[in-house]
Amino acid sequence: MPDTALLDGGVLSTVDAAAGGARVWRRLGSAGVLRDQYRQRTPTGLVADPARLAATLREVDARGDNGITLSVLVQSASALPILAAGTGPEFDRVADGDCEVALAATDTAAAGSDLTGLGTEVELDGDTVRLDGGKRWVTTATRAAYFLVLARHRPGRHFTAFTWVLVPADAAGVRVTPATTTLLAGAGIGHVEFCDVRLPASAVLGRQGRGLALFARHMGTERLAGAQWATALTSRVLAETRESLTRREIDGRALWDHDSIRQEFAACLVRVRSLRALHEALGERVVTDHDTTSAALLKASIGLTADEVLSSCARWRGADGFADDGLQLVRAEAAVFGIGGGVTELMLGAIADDAESLLTELRT
Ligand SMILES: Cc1cc2nc3c(=O)[nH]c(=O)nc-3n(C[C@H](O)[C@H](O)[C@H](O)COP(=O)(O)OP(=O)(O)OC[C@H]3O[C@@H](n4cnc5c(N)ncnc54)[C@H](O)[C@@H]3O)c2cc1C
Repeated sequence: MPDTALLDGGVLSTVDAAAGGARVWRRLGSAGVLRDQYRQRTPTGLVADPARLAATLREVDARGDNGITLSVLVQSASALPILAAGTGPEFDRVADGDCEVALAATDTAAAGSDLTGLGTEVELDGDTVRLDGGKRWVTTATRAAYFLVLARHRPGRHFTAFTWVLVPADAAGVRVTPATTTLLAGAGIGHVEFCDVRLPASAVLGRQGRGLALFARHMGTERLAGAQWATALTSRVLAETRESLTRREIDGRALWDHDSIRQEFAACLVRVRSLRALHEALGERVVTDHDTTSAALLKASIGLTADEVLSSCARWRGADGFADDGLQLVRAEAAVFGIGGGVTELMLGAIADDAESLLTELRT
């Protein structure tokens, strides 16, 4: 199997620990790992293989740089799959690791939770397209060779008013500003402005008016990948925490021997094991059936699980948790699970909307 090396931890072992996101991406691409994450390329993009996607994320997470893992996740689970709906040479360049691609949906003109309110406009005029607007909090923005931009080609909120445009980062009128944050530094997060950007008509990716349909198809995989990464991250941190609890003594007794700590730790294990069971049970429904309720269940669980588990682990480190590379930082970075790619509240709303069929399934 082509992913054996990854499962053995072999592929990234040649990339030194201080390497940035571009080097990690290049290595994954040149080793064939990025292409092996998918079962199939279709006219509507790539179909992920849940087990292989999980293996990649586990391996990247083991390096302990949450920013880099976020960047690999967004590219592997949603940007590259959507890019595969195009016919140009860009897909092969990104899949081979020669360069990176950023997914730019969250708009400067609207709340991220109000996607159909987005303001970035694309004007289609015969042989050319013109793009104006802006996107914010875009992962990999500072390194990407291409931006996949979700834009509107007509006013209004109708499902068919949106289209993807593939924009080279070096096109005239594109300006990237790094986000001012110390969190998730390896993710290359930035804000992007598009000012009178002119491109050939071939820059339209997928069919005009199919932007939201394509997005919805692939956001489920990003949510599945989020659950896979959250499982890898929280179980890695729990293993490190257990070590530190057995070493840390208070009045001659290891913290691990305090009943209240053991019980809280066990409750964290239950949560992480449940998250893993959930993504293993729902992965196929998400990638094959594009089941949006399953994807919402996964995304909601991530936000709730990661926050609780990492808060406990960070607290047990006492003051050391506040060090520059301490667990309080990891906890803050992991808050992205409840925000990036759709906030937890929106997911819970979608689950409530589908409560009747969920309850029917639970009761049979
Ligand atoms: C680290 C990071 C990386 C990101 N990477 C990308 C990327 O690569 N590409 C991209 O396009 N975007 C990216 N984003 C943007 C992300 O998708 C948005 O932040 C997200 O959709 C939320 O939008 P917002 O920040 O505008 O918050 P808002 O939509 O304004 O929401 C703010 C808060 O309001 C509350 N809220 C919102 N809706 C509801 C509701 N229906 N009910 C109750 N409460 C609600 C929630 O508490 C929420 O956190 C990234 C964000 C972060 C933090």
